[in-house]
This record gives sequence, C-alpha cells and structure tokens, in this order.
Amino acid sequence: MNKEVSLKVKSKFLNKLKSGYPLISKEAIINVNDLVKEGSIVKLVDERNSFIAKGYYGKQNKGLGWVLSRNESVSFDQRFFENKLKEAIKARESFYQSSETTAFRVFNGEGDGIGGLTIDYFAGYYLLTWYSKGIYHFRDYIIQALEELVEFKGIYQKKRFDEKGQYIEEDDFVAGERGQFPLIVKENGVNFAIYLNESAMVGVFLDQRDVRRTIRDAYAKGKTVLNTFSYTGAFSVFAALGGATKTTSVDLANRSRSKTMEQFRVNEIDAETQGIIVEDVFNYFKYALKKQLKFDMVILDPPSFARSKKFTFSAEKDYKNLLKEAIAITEDNGTIVASTNCSAFGMDRFKTFIDTAFKESGGRYKIMEEFSLPADFKTIKEFPEGNYLKVVFIKKIK
Ligand code: SAH
Repeated sequence: MNKEVSLKVKSKFLNKLKSGYPLISKEAIINVNDLVKEGSIVKLVDERNSFIAKGYYGKQNKGLGWVLSRNESVSFDQRFFENKLKEAIKARESFYQSSETTAFRVFNGEGDGIGGLTIDYFAGYYLLTWYSKGIYHFRDYIIQALEELVEFKGIYQKKRFDEKGQYIEEDDFVAGERGQFPLIVKENGVNFAIYLNESAMVGVFLDQRDVRRTIRDAYAKGKTVLNTFSYTGAFSVFAALGGATKTTSVDLANRSRSKTMEQFRVNEIDAETQGIIVEDVFNYFKYALKKQLKFDMVILDPPSFARSKKFTFSAEKDYKNLLKEAIAITEDNGTIVASTNCSAFGMDRFKTFIDTAFKESGGRYKIMEEFSLPADFKTIKEFPEGNYLKVVFIKKIK
C-alpha cells in the first residue's frame, strides 16, 4: 500500500473543502510536490495540521484527486467501496425494474461518493470507466465489490487516462462472459446497438435519455429535423420514431454514417429514407443557407471543444455563433434544441448566449423546456460543475 500523504490546504480554499467540495484542485494545495504516486491516500489538513478530509491522488485535467471521506479513521478497503456501490445500486432500483429501459448509469463519480469512477449498465453487462491511474489503483476492491453486489453477464472497463502519455488500447473485458456485439439495449422502448469492446465511446450517451424521449413524444411529429454533431444519430432515431417526416444527421466523423445506419436498422427504420451527411457542420450551415433549406427542428449538440480542418469550436466562445447559424435555417415557429456538456459555464450563462444570438439575429424566441442530467446521473449540490448537461428547447417566433 502507498503511504499516506498530508496535503496542506491554502486558507482561501478551506471553507469550500470543509463544506463538502469533493475535488482536490491543484490551486488549493500548498505542497503539491509531495504527491508522487497516483493511488496514494491523501489527508487534507489546515495550517495547524487539523484534519479536514481524506481521499486519493489521481490526476485528471480537472484536478489532483477526490475526497472520499470526512472521517479520519475510515480506511479505503473493499468494505468502503462496497458500501458506496451498494447505496448507488439501491438508488437505481426503479431503473433495474424497467423493461423499457435497459441502459443507465449505476454509479456517477463524485455524485455517488467516488470521483473518477463511473459504472454504466447495459442489458446485463456492466461498464466501469476509470478516469485516472489513481482510481484504477483501487480496481480490485471495486470490481470485487461489484461482483458481490449484482448479478451480471459480464463486466467491461475503459481506462480514460494516459499511461506514459499514450492511451493504451487493450482488451477491455474484465469478468463474466464476453458479450456479442453489438449488444442491443433498450431506452424507452427504442433499441440501441452498443459496443463495449471498441474505443472510448460505446454508441450512445445515456445522459440525453430524457431529451430524446421529449423529442419523440412532444416535438417530432410531422416535422423536418436537422441533427447536427449527430455521432450515431440517437436523436434522429427518436425523431423518426416520433413521426418526423425526415431527419438529416450531420457529423464530421466517417464512422458516423455506418453507425447511424445501424441505429436506424435495429429500429426497423429504412435508413435510405433519412439523410446522413458526413461533413463539417459549419460547411453544412453555409450550404443550407445557400440552398435556402429550412428545418422545423434543429438539434445542436457539439462537443465542448473541437478542432476540424477549417474551424476550431469552443462552446464557451462560439456557442452564440453556432446558435445564430441554426436560427438562420430554422422555420418560424420551429424549435432549436440547444445542448451543451461544457462544465465551464452554467445554465444562466448558457441562456445569455441564447438571448444574445436571437437579439443579434433580430428574432424573438420562447424557451419551452429545459433539461439537466437525468436522475441516474446523480450529482451533489456541493459540486455544481458535476451537473454539466444543459439542454434548452427554444421556439423561434416570427
Ligand atoms: N449528439 C450526439 C453526440 C455528439 S458527440 C448524440 O446524441 O449521440 C460530438 C460529435 O461531434 C462527434 O461525433 C464528432 O465527430 C462531431 N463533430 C465534432 N466537430 C464537428 C464538426 N465541426 N462538424 C461535424 N461534426 C463534428
């Protein structure tokens, strides 16, 4: 076992950490250089060496590690992790009981008490995602705890951290039996093809579940839908099943075409009747404007940061302009679904982007509904940036 390291907290950060903030940020610590080995247990103390909290050292771009307990005598053994997992699993009871939805988040990092780890459920299979070498250090305890608590077909993992500066692609299979991929899971009765054995992304982002259902049930009928940054086309599938007259999915990545066709196919939708375009979204906006194409619904779900051949996009700097491009090709009384997973700003600032974009476009709008993370993506009030998702349904008014 690594030895425990005492970390002195700067006075400016004491109150925040004392009142439940779980992230150990670099700026908050005086003796950062005492951290050597990821996975070490760290003890946060004030200038007088009084105990504040304990956790582990694990480097992520957000910070140096996470607080796991405010009890000095607790040890981070298998029982500790088992208790955390048990509580999280119990909180998802209603999800386990649903036959309409068989994919959901079982454990959501700091929201469930262990920053740096998420666990997702996909129709009998579990996927653990490790966000640092530090949390991966505890893998045996955590995997064993999971094995003892749930029935499963198989367990897979993703390591979302660099080892010696390189992402090591290795076999992600952990325990149980190997799956047959694609694995077909259900979300509110809709099928998704999932791959637990390929790259970092499995085929669907579970945090948009409520947004997809809303598009299908309340907005899509009889509408033309443009889905930008569409990835595997999950929003398009729900729109098509909700009765959209046509969906058009646009994504830069080559793989998005076959991935989107597959998601249509597993739902018995003829992909030939839908538009799938592999192109830079910003080029497509120009094309649509020139051809005077307009849509009843435009979905915007860009990454927080992306670089393509011609453009760099940062949600914080460029979302307002992205909205202006969308406004220009949305029909009057049409809907823009503006989504972002950028944790650098909150809902209030996101709404100022929306307001400014409409003002600069000389148009009016009405906010119809808003979404943040769904219930299975548990967050805590002490760490508001953990509730990163912001989705706003905006009606464009003439
Ligand atoms: N909306 C998707 C998730 C989007 S993930 C869903 O609901 O599943 C972000 C996607 O944006 C990636 O698939 C990436 O290939 C794509 N992307 C990034 N920059 C782009 C650009 N300039 N034009 C088109 N697609 C882009």
